[in-house]
Amino acid sequence: MSTGFITVAYLVAGVLFIRSLGGLSKQETARRGNISGIVGMAIAVAITAAAWASHPSKNPTSSLVAVGLLGAALVVGGSIGGVLARRVEMTGMPELVAVLHSFVGLAAVLVGFASYLSPGAETAHSGAERAVHLVEIGIGIAVGALTFTGSVIAFLKLRGSVSGKPLLLPGRHALNALAAASTIGLTVPVVLAHGTGGLPYLIGIAVIAGLLGIHLVMAIGGADMPVVVSLLNSYSGWAAAAAGFVLANDLLIVTGALVGSSGAILSIIMCRAMNRSIANVIFGGFGTADSKHAGDAHAAAPGEVREMKHPEVATTLRDAKSVVIVPGYGMAVARAQGAVQELTRVLRERGTTVRFAIHPVAGRLPGHMNVLLAEAGVPYDIVLEMEEINHDFTKTDAVLVIGANDIVNPGALDDPQSPIYGMPVLEVWKSKVVVVLKRGMAAGYAGVENPLFYLENTRMLFGDAKKSMDALVTAVRD
Ligand code: NDP
Repeated sequence: MSTGFITVAYLVAGVLFIRSLGGLSKQETARRGNISGIVGMAIAVAITAAAWASHPSKNPTSSLVAVGLLGAALVVGGSIGGVLARRVEMTGMPELVAVLHSFVGLAAVLVGFASYLSPGAETAHSGAERAVHLVEIGIGIAVGALTFTGSVIAFLKLRGSVSGKPLLLPGRHALNALAAASTIGLTVPVVLAHGTGGLPYLIGIAVIAGLLGIHLVMAIGGADMPVVVSLLNSYSGWAAAAAGFVLANDLLIVTGALVGSSGAILSIIMCRAMNRSIANVIFGGFGTADSKHAGDAHAAAPGEVREMKHPEVATTLRDAKSVVIVPGYGMAVARAQGAVQELTRVLRERGTTVRFAIHPVAGRLPGHMNVLLAEAGVPYDIVLEMEEINHDFTKTDAVLVIGANDIVNPGALDDPQSPIYGMPVLEVWKSKVVVVLKRGMAAGYAGVENPLFYLENTRMLFGDAKKSMDALVTAVRD
């Protein structure tokens, strides 16, 4: 296969990836964006496979073996991916994403070692070129190992298998600096060694970077996990780009850089939404209720909880001219989005103004709520971002908080002791009535008590959000 053809195909795939990212930035175009990404990836895989199999260094028999091996890898990997994607619940998406990031990291580590150990690697490059190649391998392995272990810890934290509390070791910043300096330092003997003599140092780089990945993510608290997930997404992009340099594959470099930079931009956007700086998130160990404080808050905050049953909530909704719905993680757990859409339809048919308020870190994945609402058929134009709607709560008759907790916690604004202090939240308590749908009085992801539940204008509608919504739809209709 000619190099010119491969380059053009890679260019087309690269453009499709850029179109995909552009499409994914808006709900209306997200589906189209996904399709561009799928087509781009299909072209990338097909051309890479064809180029590899037809490489002049291969004789016909080894080409056949190469195609067979690649085909088998594609079938096995594709089938596992297909089954996982079909089975995963929307609530399990963040964990799946974290696992997928870990695979990218692991792949970069394996590519690094394979390239270092491949026969003829030493003679393929000479002089300065060889030194640069070895540094690329070192960087690829370091970024890959950090991404791999960091993503595994993120996966365990999101699953709840590892506590969400930050692990704050004494002198942790010095430890991180030492680990970073050691990985950089170890590339020197790798470059100086002859043959594969640098292997122990490369293993050392992988181990130290892996430990650094574990330590960095262990030090991050629950409320910062959204930023960590998107940061790891960015790292996985840079790991892929590093693998691209090692393999001298332009498309992998471009794609890795696209993922790396878009992940970094998303991390910055999410940091802004949470009123935090990236450095603070990475090194701060912020965002977790130290349990002592959460416990204290629990003891101090409770006042009276006012419960409301669904017929009374239905009356409140029927009387309201303007309703705002705030969905949160509990809506995803209960799979209540269909019933939420139905209630929206019924209320709008009655002439009520219904809008949705979306907090940037609602749920467990950036855009989690937007995806669920789009899937249920809620019109895009009534789904508003936090800054678009936060000023309107004073003019709102009723707010329905459906399975949300941390994102409507007033303590984030007025309790300097709160672990989520400083994070902008949806100021739902400024409306006439707030109805909170949840099963009990449990805390949200950050593990913090929520004073909203005890305010005078708040009513609790206890129960599974789907069942409550179904009952509400029937009651509002009657
Ligand atoms: P929260 O996790 O704060 O609260 C969810 C609430 O839903 C719980 O209090 C729970 O209360 C309730 N709930 C659970 N299941 C049901 C059900 N079946 N029916 C009704 N209610 C239910 O969610 P928010 O969306 O408010 O906030 C998101 C949190 O997750 C933030 O702290 C954010 O930082 C974090 N996070 C966000 C990520 C992102 O990218 N968006 C990624 C990782 C973390 P009860 O058990 O009493 O019913």
